[in-house]
Amino acid sequence: MEKRIEIVQGDITKLQVDAIVNAANSSLLGGGGVDGAIHKAAGPGLLEVCRLLGGCATGEAKITRGYKLPARFVIHTVGPVWSAGLRHEPELLASCYQKSLAQATLYECKIVAFPNISTGVYHFPKEMAAEIACREVQNYLLSNTLPEKVIFVCFDDENLAIYKKLLNN
Ligand code: ADP
Repeated sequence: MEKRIEIVQGDITKLQVDAIVNAANSSLLGGGGVDGAIHKAAGPGLLEVCRLLGGCATGEAKITRGYKLPARFVIHTVGPVWSAGLRHEPELLASCYQKSLAQATLYECKIVAFPNISTGVYHFPKEMAAEIACREVQNYLLSNTLPEKVIFVCFDDENLAIYKKLLNN
């Protein structure tokens, strides 16, 4: 069987896939990191529609069109800020992957790309975040035919090495 999980290194805004996931903040009004890159590449249409969404709670996901992005949709999810693991961060991060995948299924996305949610300025430990991401995606794909494929887009070398170790054995 063809592999349903892929790892690539690079800029998620360049991918021509059905949906890319944005590691947004709860305002959904843009920010730094991958969020800033997605808004910059998508153009002002994305921010305009995001203003109408009324924000998004941590662990939830909302979908928009991709505007000027090569991706058709953007799934905006809000990862938890790491605070010593005392605020249900692992469960909330798992929920980001579950809810994002559920949106992808609803919108009939075949290929979905995820960044390494919460591992930037939100400081979630990278190894634990990757374990949660891989576990949730693997479980979801076992019981759903869509999406057909999930791409983990690793921006930094450290995340790339962690994902390769977790998935390539
Ligand atoms: P968070 O607030 O959820 O931590 P960040 O955007 O700060 O979000 O970081 C999340 C991850 O996205 C980090 O691993 C960061 O290296 C990565 N990242 C930053 N820019 C891009 C990009 N253009 N494409 C893919 N990943 C990116």
